Amino acid sequence: MPHAFANTLRTFQTASGKSGSFYSLPELEKTYPNISRLPVSIRIVLESVLRNCDGKKVTPEHVVELAHWQANAPRVDEIPFVVARVVLQDFTGVPLLADLAAMRTVADELGKQPKAIEPLVPVDLVVDHSVMIDYFGTKDALDLNMQLEFKRNVERYQFMKWGMQAFDTFGVVPPGFGIVHQVNLEYLARGVHRGKPPTEGQPPVYYPDSLVGTDSHTTMINGIGVVGWGVGGIEGEAAMLGQPVYFLTPDVVGFEFTGRLREGVTATDLVLTVTEILRREKVVGKFVEFFGEGVESLSVPDRATMANMAPEYGATMGFFPVDDKTIEYFQGTGRTADEIELLRAYFQAQGMYGMPRSGQIDYTKVVRLDLGTVTTSLSGPRRPQDRIEIGHAKEQFTSLFSKPPAENGFNQPAGDLLTRHHVRPVDARAEVPSADPSGKGIPRTPSVQPGAPRFVDEMNANKPTLAAAVHEAPPEQPDFGDRTIGNGDVLIAAITSCTNTSNPSVMIAAGLVAKKAVEAGLTVEPHIKTSLAPGSRIVTEYLTRAGLLPYLEKLGFALAAYGCTTCIGNAGDLTPEINEAITSNDLVCAAVLSGNRNFEARIHPNLKANFLASPPLVVAYAIAGTMLKDLTSEPVGKGHGGRDVWLRDIWPTSDEVAALMKFAMNGNAYRSNYEKVASDPGPLWEQIRGVSGQVYNWPASTYIAKPPFFDGFRMTPPPPPAAIQGARAMALFGDSITTDHISPAGSIKESSPAGMWLKQHGVAKADFNSYGSRRGHHDVMMRGTFANVRIKNLMIPPGPDGSREEGGVTLFQPSGEKMFIFDAAMKYIAEGTPTIVFGGEEYGTGSSRDWAAKGTQLLGIKAVVARSFERIHRSNLVGMGVLPLQFKAGDSWESLGIRGDETFDIELGGTLRPQQEATLVIHGKDGVARRVPLVLRIDTAIEVDYYRHGGILPFVLRQLLAA
Ligand code: SF4
Repeated sequence: MPHAFANTLRTFQTASGKSGSFYSLPELEKTYPNISRLPVSIRIVLESVLRNCDGKKVTPEHVVELAHWQANAPRVDEIPFVVARVVLQDFTGVPLLADLAAMRTVADELGKQPKAIEPLVPVDLVVDHSVMIDYFGTKDALDLNMQLEFKRNVERYQFMKWGMQAFDTFGVVPPGFGIVHQVNLEYLARGVHRGKPPTEGQPPVYYPDSLVGTDSHTTMINGIGVVGWGVGGIEGEAAMLGQPVYFLTPDVVGFEFTGRLREGVTATDLVLTVTEILRREKVVGKFVEFFGEGVESLSVPDRATMANMAPEYGATMGFFPVDDKTIEYFQGTGRTADEIELLRAYFQAQGMYGMPRSGQIDYTKVVRLDLGTVTTSLSGPRRPQDRIEIGHAKEQFTSLFSKPPAENGFNQPAGDLLTRHHVRPVDARAEVPSADPSGKGIPRTPSVQPGAPRFVDEMNANKPTLAAAVHEAPPEQPDFGDRTIGNGDVLIAAITSCTNTSNPSVMIAAGLVAKKAVEAGLTVEPHIKTSLAPGSRIVTEYLTRAGLLPYLEKLGFALAAYGCTTCIGNAGDLTPEINEAITSNDLVCAAVLSGNRNFEARIHPNLKANFLASPPLVVAYAIAGTMLKDLTSEPVGKGHGGRDVWLRDIWPTSDEVAALMKFAMNGNAYRSNYEKVASDPGPLWEQIRGVSGQVYNWPASTYIAKPPFFDGFRMTPPPPPAAIQGARAMALFGDSITTDHISPAGSIKESSPAGMWLKQHGVAKADFNSYGSRRGHHDVMMRGTFANVRIKNLMIPPGPDGSREEGGVTLFQPSGEKMFIFDAAMKYIAEGTPTIVFGGEEYGTGSSRDWAAKGTQLLGIKAVVARSFERIHRSNLVGMGVLPLQFKAGDSWESLGIRGDETFDIELGGTLRPQQEATLVIHGKDGVARRVPLVLRIDTAIEVDYYRHGGILPFVLRQLLAA
């Protein structure tokens, strides 16, 4: 069939005379005026819709609808967006690979070709999420942590190797190279893509890079003009199997920057300000597009920092158009001259090159910020949008210390604030780090077994055996002497997260703060867990060449890993002595990290106050050692000769940072580093042996198991239920329940259902690893659902002091017996009782985490009724066949007096329609029934199909096998 818009095909030429074909938006504009006034992000999606218009998945009507995008209009149209590629991180990538493997098993069992299941677009999985900071503060910390990383994860890595040989377009960036979004920015994103020639003899068709990733911070790539965002693993899987990503036509909020950042103010300060502003603007479900002369002055790494935190401000994307700064970044990161000139020529031909100025684009709304007003800030203690100017941090901590939980406080007696407590020795065997094989606790100064392999030697291919790679030497016990700790003490200080480690200016600033601090005689207390975990090896390269790494090391910020570490909750444990001192005195201690999330219990279960800050500020707070010091009016610490040293004495000027930037933007260094992904992935990785063959053989494992989502699969779906009847409430939650509350990524408690299951299966506590690393095994993950140690099921009555019990428990009805949510779920499933979860605002906020939806489904929960939903989690629920339903304005389970002992029906009426009305019928214990209107948050027609098929996975599998 001829392309419906073949008349828009044109050619463009690069500076050196190469030519390419492209589907021209300027040509389309001749029929549909105003395309050049559309936001650039919308135009890039429009190009995809235009190019992929095949009359089936993408129709000419889709093209026309999007070409007619209006800045302000009801949003009812659904856009089928075919992306150029998919990126995965290992926590989400492994379960996705397990689903693909299970689909192949089903195909095989049904006598179909297993190869029918094959990614149709390139897929890259970057292994970054599992590495933990067990060792820190010394030069061998990286080696030791990597040895443990390989020991713990060998089964997952074997499975990945099976995937690499089974699927043609599935690549893996092995552990130790970096963090997915930084690697994507520095390496995987190659500019425009080259397709086939439209007809013989014509030049190939070029098109812009675009992607979805199974990680919410995929938006970081928006910093270089690539349209892309995070989706759940479920949607990511569909995208790689050739399904368009469907989304409602978005509003696009323009964010204009004017002016320049003031001296000493960092990109981190800017992004915390942007997050605060955009949270107020309520940009959930919208695109944000940055423009204006202030944006023009920002480097790509600064832009990428803004783009990274789109999930924190709630937007689908935080997009920056392609301009000279993008080209500069491509040059500085070693992209080829060919790639660079194609990128420039393509965007120029489409009329999309350059930073738009005020008035050039029609946005739904314009928000403005004068960069000159941004101040040095941090955010916390619980949410990224709660920005605090540095001069108010002490005051804010002090005030929250004794405020009630309802006001975000810690509910402590004000008089206890300054009390210090001795750190006393405890039996080291009682608590050990989560997987430290020695069982002796976490050392700051570990000793290395003579001859043990060193991860840094991997680049020189030292070929140790895997068995030898396990660190066996007994580490030294920390000596606490007469140390005391108290409220406000900083116990973790981590330079972490792709958000900031991808930005050389803030990393160099951190190095300069360390240099000046060391030269002034400042130190960091040895009990503070300090770590440096960059998102790529390039950071080490330029910090070394700039001469800054030794100063960071001197303050304890030695290289500990290349990976998410503290940002994903893999800070590793504190020492048993410190844990004991915190818990027995109910202390409010702090972590300061250059990450982007600080939800409760994400960083460490015992640290209640978590602050996000720029890398240089992380160093400063590590030196200060407490949040109870105002760094603007008190010295950071005492230097040589007892002299007071102030923050201003160690804070670098922008000229000092700029002078060292030449070490960071070195194309050759990027090229030679990333060549090693293929040529020299390291001996630890090379020694991993995977199963071979097209169909996985599912060997017994506590990491990988055949997921049950296709059990009983038939080519024809069963009819979906017209109503849910006689359901029980599994939980009543407040606002802002995060996906980490629903499906935690961090450590597994021994006494939890998942911990007990692991022990029953012969896994020692020291080898539990984390929930995130066990997402390939549903038996662990369904037990971990709603198992966050800080989640509060408000069905449990408050204690005498009004406090709420934390942890994944519920009251099983009608007996009211208290038990783990997992145990209650199994009992309800056994007796055939459906269950419902009630939530507040922003249900499912936080990282995209498909296990939050998968676990919900496997617990037999049929619907989630909330006041509002986070975008990805809502679609993941639909994708798993769980109904998201929304209260109408003003209603909530609290306002309706729901207590959890009622039974419930949900009536859906006849044929399902997107966003239709539904009815919640509440049957009280008194026999009275009340009817409450709800909105069904199945938002699009394709989602109705997904739900009818029991979820997106059976839907896609039926399509592929039918073909
Ligand atoms: S967990 Fe943190 S470091 Fe890792 S990808 Fe997400 S934002 Fe980046």
